[in-house]
Amino acid sequence: MSKKRQSPTEQGKETKQRTPTFLLELPLQVNESQAARLRAHLEASRQFYNAVLSEGLAQTLATRAYQALNRVCLGQARRVRFKSRGRGLASIENKRNDTGLRFVLQKPEAGQQGFLSWQNEQFPALINWNDPVVKHGLDHRVKYARLVQRKASSPQARGADCQGYRYSVQLALEGIPYHKPKHTVGSDIIGADLGPSTIALVPREAKASLELFCEQLAPDEQKIRRLQRQMDRQRRMANPDNYDEQGRVKSHGKKRLHWKSSRTYEKIRRRKATKERKLAAHRKSLHGKTVHEIVAVGNTVILEKLSYQAWQKQYGRSVGLRAPGMFVAHLKRTVASTGGTLLEVPTRSTKLSQFCHGCGRCLKKPLSQRWHQCACGVGPVQRDLYAAFLAAYLDPDHLLPSCAQYVIPWEGAEARLRAAHEQVQQRANEGQSLPRSMGIPRAGARRPSSLSQATPEPAFLLTQGRLEAWKHRSEPQLL
Ligand SMILES: [Zn+2]
Repeated sequence: MSKKRQSPTEQGKETKQRTPTFLLELPLQVNESQAARLRAHLEASRQFYNAVLSEGLAQTLATRAYQALNRVCLGQARRVRFKSRGRGLASIENKRNDTGLRFVLQKPEAGQQGFLSWQNEQFPALINWNDPVVKHGLDHRVKYARLVQRKASSPQARGADCQGYRYSVQLALEGIPYHKPKHTVGSDIIGADLGPSTIALVPREAKASLELFCEQLAPDEQKIRRLQRQMDRQRRMANPDNYDEQGRVKSHGKKRLHWKSSRTYEKIRRRKATKERKLAAHRKSLHGKTVHEIVAVGNTVILEKLSYQAWQKQYGRSVGLRAPGMFVAHLKRTVASTGGTLLEVPTRSTKLSQFCHGCGRCLKKPLSQRWHQCACGVGPVQRDLYAAFLAAYLDPDHLLPSCAQYVIPWEGAEARLRAAHEQVQQRANEGQSLPRSMGIPRAGARRPSSLSQATPEPAFLLTQGRLEAWKHRSEPQLL
């Protein structure tokens, strides 16, 4: 880089401060020939990206390739991922809004139209000025623009080009995102405990709850799995030579196996891809809904910092479906935009799942033990709810639980936690299958029809007002 160019950027760095950024996406009107040029450009970018990576230079592409390599160097990723033709490179961006790719908004006198201008071409953006989110966004300074290519369900979908892509402009704007008046912000402090498929919430004042996390996604997942099995059968039919006697894919050593795919296979593959896109959108909306429900109660959230990567190994399917890490990131952003905080406390030092506030001991429970019951008289209480309770009353400055700080809160909370679990029990009694982690024995495995033959178990005694009898048992029950 020449010296001439360096000095202004250095000057800029001194005055430049990091400002908050939010995104706004507007659909673009792209005609067929423009779409063809965009596709060609993205394909060229993809090849360029791969070339930069394999050499191991356009500014943002080089940055992206550098970031990919850097993640490997830092140990955050094990290898770089080349962009395949099928996956493609789906966006182009520019670091500033005054060169190359840029977004231009006309003055109100000139009609207030917006264009994405790129290489002598102008793509008009569809702007709905009556939408408060759009209006709020366009009132802010554009930091930079990004052109995004997304797959629509088919070439016939609205706004899609002949290959089934849609284009939109994503604006990175300076400031904080629009806050819809319907989303109220509470002032409570909430302790949360996330499991691979559950979420326990214990606010300091409001109602506690233990819920299935994103349970509405289950039917979507089932449909996808059915298509997956169908694809597997089709692949086996079309490529019998690629499998050994036991039905396993042959190890091929250096030589790559050749796979044939039938036309129906391709059809099913597209159908599955559409289903997966819908599932992702559904998941995002469920996350957003839960986030707003939490923020309506309070915008200070305390939870344990979890390694979602470690979870992926143990509960791959559930974590892949529900994306708890993405949810926490979403919650963090929203809480921050309302002026609150999300505190992630280190698991190793606080040990919320082992601590007992009655005697101050830390006792490691096996994962299968879903109840906290201590010889000192605390409990029985569902383990996740108890961990969320401990989190809610943590002192943000110390983050280490001590017995004294929980004596008074426990008096009011015990009944709230029990009420939360009784609701879970209610749902189990109605025949809904719940994961075992919720502390209802064999709830997940039992079909509703066999309910009548079930032997009475502690959790059933709980709801029938026999809690006291269970409390005074000689030793805690391992569930
Ligand atoms: Zn104890």
